[in-house]
Amino acid sequence: MGKFGDILRINLTEGTVKREELPDEKIRKYLGGRGLGTRIMYDETKAGIDPLGPDNKLIFSIGPMTGRGTPAGNRYMVVTKSPLTGFIASSNSGGFWGTELARAGHAVIILEGKAAKPTYIWIKDDVVELRDASPLWGKNSHETTEELLKMVGDPSARVSCISQSGEGLSKLAAVMNEKDRAAGRGGVGAVMGSKNLKAVVVRGTGKVEPTNPDFMKDVNKRALEKIKANGVSGQGLPAHGTALLVNIINATGSYPYKNFLEAYMEPEEADKQSGETLSRDFLVRKAACFGCPIACARITKMKSKPLAGEGPEYETVWAFGAACGLSDIEPGIEANYICNELGIDTIGAGVTIAAAMELYEKGYLPKADLEGGPELKFGSGEAMVYWTREMGLSRGKLGKLLAEGSYRLCEHYGHPELSMSVKKQELPAYDPRGVQGIGLNYATSNRGGCHVRGYTIASEVAGVPVKTDPHATEGKPELTKIFQDLTGMIDSSGMCLFTSFALGAEDYADALKGGTGWDVTASEVMQIGERVWNLEKLYNIREGWTPKADELPKRMTGDAIPKGPSKGLVSQVPAMLPVYYEKRGWDAKGHPTKEKLEQLGL
Ligand code: SF4
Repeated sequence: MGKFGDILRINLTEGTVKREELPDEKIRKYLGGRGLGTRIMYDETKAGIDPLGPDNKLIFSIGPMTGRGTPAGNRYMVVTKSPLTGFIASSNSGGFWGTELARAGHAVIILEGKAAKPTYIWIKDDVVELRDASPLWGKNSHETTEELLKMVGDPSARVSCISQSGEGLSKLAAVMNEKDRAAGRGGVGAVMGSKNLKAVVVRGTGKVEPTNPDFMKDVNKRALEKIKANGVSGQGLPAHGTALLVNIINATGSYPYKNFLEAYMEPEEADKQSGETLSRDFLVRKAACFGCPIACARITKMKSKPLAGEGPEYETVWAFGAACGLSDIEPGIEANYICNELGIDTIGAGVTIAAAMELYEKGYLPKADLEGGPELKFGSGEAMVYWTREMGLSRGKLGKLLAEGSYRLCEHYGHPELSMSVKKQELPAYDPRGVQGIGLNYATSNRGGCHVRGYTIASEVAGVPVKTDPHATEGKPELTKIFQDLTGMIDSSGMCLFTSFALGAEDYADALKGGTGWDVTASEVMQIGERVWNLEKLYNIREGWTPKADELPKRMTGDAIPKGPSKGLVSQVPAMLPVYYEKRGWDAKGHPTKEKLEQLGL
């Protein structure tokens, strides 16, 4: 009861596969996905290991709600020590791969050691084989997926793989599934590459049933009604995808422009890259992950070139648009396709190119280092597309430097302050000077600069569940903590975070009750999320976290936004941080107290 598969422990050095039971106590305390993966990393790896060495582990874990038919219950999480940040990485993806793993009867795959040669894993229900992937090395996510489906002889199998970026150990490398879905952040694809692991291919023919089907039917019906009735999940996302946010965020004056030098575009310029424009001029069709009524994904095609593919999402439109000083969306669409094929995190890639453009324009990055490539000037779509490809292939002097991410790139040229990152991970598409709560979330995010660890934008901009003033700081530490804790639980449950526009802690508790048969309450759900957050923090402290790691780039606290609706604002994170630590029950230096850890059973 309540089990959602077993653990496959695969040692790539020895070529062995062992099956283990999911530990009852741990799944009740951490569920699966991000929580259980982090627990395993904490328990089974030593402090100070090289993220790209054989002692690091790579964990694929689904949650108890993955594949059980609850709306948008389809996620799998990739958990490891990040080569980008040096801290915990957990990066999730939707699509169908997670559900396939659930159907095969497995909840967690723990990958250890390093294979002697390129390898892929073929899982057909109970049968697990390690196979030679040498012919696939050097192939991109599309080619790899197509060839693997032929090699295993089953077109219904699902492929999660790395591309050239992961093979080249780029710190921006993603793990890709179904060609274009990405577990994008933290360099998880580089860890897979360091293990000589090209892909995990899964085919599951079992059924994943809720433990309490009648109750679950009721829960799903209510959840579906709420999702449909909500303005964001029921109307905005289905109509225009996540890029719907472009005009909305720009109107708040918090749409970072030219590597965060500014935060506002003229409305007609921003609209050229909006979700509405994407729908009108580039959309082929909408798409959805397994069991998702929201269907925020987009299949698009370019007008100027015969290229088509999935995306871009809001963050990608921005990273390859405004962040690089572009209005025209087409170069960003092309850069997005390149990232999907080469397996690169689009936020990390776009923000790193933006940093390179600022370095170049300020004369810190010499022309000689371009080795004949196009000049890295803000607004140059040609340069952006060209250097994205070089980055993904880790090709040439500058391509290799770009593949290290913006922090190491800027440090190399003597100006780390031009990297718009936290914990060396690039910031997403909301300027923390104009939306104060999201800045606090960026600063405190255990996996580095990230919006989806505590998406306070829901409240500060969209008014969900209540509207708060984006410029105000009062109440933001509490708001940030609530969003972070709820997200910690959702990321461990197997459900998509976008359901949280419409669902609350009670709905998730009901889903877990129906799915697993556990008697879970709303407050227990929040406590699970808080436990996951604190465990991640303990992991990071073990890896050398200090309060300095919770700082935003100096530009965010020192340089006011120069124009637009948020003109004159800087981030107030330094003032909010002590309050946040206190609300978390941590000491003044940001360490969880003994009492807090006891309360959480840690
Ligand atoms: S909301 Fe979007 S990302 Fe989430 S499960 Fe649905 S289609 Fe996938």
